[in-house]
Amino acid sequence: TPALDLTAIRAQFPILSERVRGKRLAYLDNAATTQKPEAMLQALDHYYRKQNSNVHRAVHELAERATTAYEGARDRIAAFIKAPREQIVFTRGTTESINLVARSFLQPRIEPGDEVLLTTMEHHSDIVSWQLAGAKTVAAPLDDDGTLIFDEWLKLLGPRTKLVAVAQVSNSLGTINPIEDIIREAHARGIPVLVDGAQGIAHMPVDMQALDVDFYAFSAHKLYGPTGFGALYAKREHLEAMQPWQGGGDMIRTVAFSGSTWNEVPYKFEAGTPDMAGAIGCAAAIDWLDAIGLEAVAAHEHALLEYGTQRLAEVPGLRIIGTSPRKAGILSFVMDDAHPQDIGSILDMEGVAIRTGHHCTMPLMERFGVPATARASLAIYNGQDDIDQLVNGLMKVHRLFAA
Ligand code: PMP
Repeated sequence: TPALDLTAIRAQFPILSERVRGKRLAYLDNAATTQKPEAMLQALDHYYRKQNSNVHRAVHELAERATTAYEGARDRIAAFIKAPREQIVFTRGTTESINLVARSFLQPRIEPGDEVLLTTMEHHSDIVSWQLAGAKTVAAPLDDDGTLIFDEWLKLLGPRTKLVAVAQVSNSLGTINPIEDIIREAHARGIPVLVDGAQGIAHMPVDMQALDVDFYAFSAHKLYGPTGFGALYAKREHLEAMQPWQGGGDMIRTVAFSGSTWNEVPYKFEAGTPDMAGAIGCAAAIDWLDAIGLEAVAAHEHALLEYGTQRLAEVPGLRIIGTSPRKAGILSFVMDDAHPQDIGSILDMEGVAIRTGHHCTMPLMERFGVPATARASLAIYNGQDDIDQLVNGLMKVHRLFAA
């Protein structure tokens, strides 16, 4: 793959030229949220200036413009993950997508003691949502390098397993899970699978047809798009069988005091005025990213991950948590003498934005025996200069804290 033109890519992100604490910004908190390219900012601006109106009740021209742009966004998002448009339900993000599956799909199908099989690296949204729906959550163990122990996972796949849910990529470790194998084994036993794509969607190509997954959840804000918007892909048969979980405008066909009937999929899951700008912004971000190509993105981020892994090894007393051979752009680490919170604060003074804490993966922290980690996470606009700035900051942490 030819190297990306980083200068040109960075020029698309106005926020990257902000100075923080008087320093050049090295933004390495992309797993939390990504920055936004000019094309996406312009789409939001254009929407509010030229198209804004409520959708789906189009008798006037603006309502027609808004509806065309909004439903066009659904086509674009569907095409990006190679899915039919009616199988894309718009939500507030990964969390709401998972909660929708928990409430509308899982809850009516389970009895006390029924299980959702997870992995130890799942995000809280992929644990708590199932518990709220009344399921027992069972987690497959990980190797010391943060790889799912597949044989152990397989052993936990039992008669009580009503659903399998798994992160495509771990937000705390960077581990890429073998979702194809997981889907194959679960389907062989008639068990549906949800993939949490929050950390996958912006970093590698995804194809719903090829994957044959039952549910796939993601957020636009981790995909260079706006906050407060995301989607759930689901198999059509599931969407048809599922009851709506929120009532309101747009999700109905008829309403009477004696009872109501539902709109067709996906609209029966989209109650109320939707996030029109969010959908349009997400589609614009996808247009922008797709023009670069997810293969090129993955190659760039992987090369940078390898560079970062090597450079972090130079920092005395630093230990990387998550060293799986199949890994995407996340560098989680702890240091002998400094608490992650202190690491984060000192790096901030150096212009380096990382995240510290449990990253919404408390069971994973327990597995590795740490209360928290410091996490640098990569995106398309990061380069070796960002990693160098990170390592220089960490050398400073070492000098300050080493006994
Ligand atoms: N799953 C994973 C793996 C994540 O990284 C995140 C975001 N940190 C979520 C789910 C939840 O995404 P959101 O907060 O956008 O709903």
